[in-house]
Amino acid sequence: TSFGFQSVGEGQKQALVDDVFHKVADRYDVMNDLMSGGLHRLWKDAMVSVLAPPKSKARPWRLLDVAGGTGDIATRAVRKSGEQIEVVVCDINESMLGVGRERAAKAGLTDQIEFTQGNAEDLPFPDKSFDAYTIAFGIRNVPDIPKALSEARRVLKRGGKFLCLEFSDVDVPGLDKVYDAFSFNVIPPMGRLVTGDGDPYRYLVESIRNFPHQDRFAEMIRDAGFERVSYRNYSGGIAALHSGWKY
Ligand code: SAM
Repeated sequence: TSFGFQSVGEGQKQALVDDVFHKVADRYDVMNDLMSGGLHRLWKDAMVSVLAPPKSKARPWRLLDVAGGTGDIATRAVRKSGEQIEVVVCDINESMLGVGRERAAKAGLTDQIEFTQGNAEDLPFPDKSFDAYTIAFGIRNVPDIPKALSEARRVLKRGGKFLCLEFSDVDVPGLDKVYDAFSFNVIPPMGRLVTGDGDPYRYLVESIRNFPHQDRFAEMIRDAGFERVSYRNYSGGIAALHSGWKY
């Protein structure tokens, strides 16, 4: 049975998405580990390595992590790149941001990571204010993806880097079947067990299914005006990292 996300309008979709992340915020980090078998950590570390900010401390290097939720990417980026980077985490959901703020405080990272509530489709930042933009497992939740991509381009400085990590299309024969079975039969019950509700996880599986193929998504990024757009698959395409540049 379908959770019905395909049939709802854009405004309604955002409300459903907000409800999902409000419900799972407390358990979000542990669920990620459970459901990806820890793989999300490797994919995220790989994304953060691609950022490669300059070593010079002449001026702070500013990263915007959109749909940044509990600050997982921000934390990894700061740990990887050290003191010269400043990260702004922007997410539409106060519950997710709340968990993130607490985490950052515990880790002593509050002077490098800032949390701001905002919508990917209408970012609350001036033009050309960031050196890089990341979005991890976030863009498929956004109702108007072209709008989010054009906002990403707007807030980047010239020479800025765009990186998007997202669940994608498995392109390994055999693995695709296993992955399908796992998605439909294991994820929702596991979600129900841990959070008491399977619906958010049915949404998760459905939203991954509806997200465009790697090549199509690369086209959308080009259409938004990014250049040198490319992607690489992780774990046979379970996830993919798309990148592009603003010139
Ligand atoms: N990036 C984090 C990570 O990888 O762990 C969190 C990813 S979580 C699967 C998706 C996040 O997207 C949620 O925190 C949700 O609130 C956020 N989100 C959904 N719609 C959004 C929108 N329109 N603008 C900004 N964030 C949004």
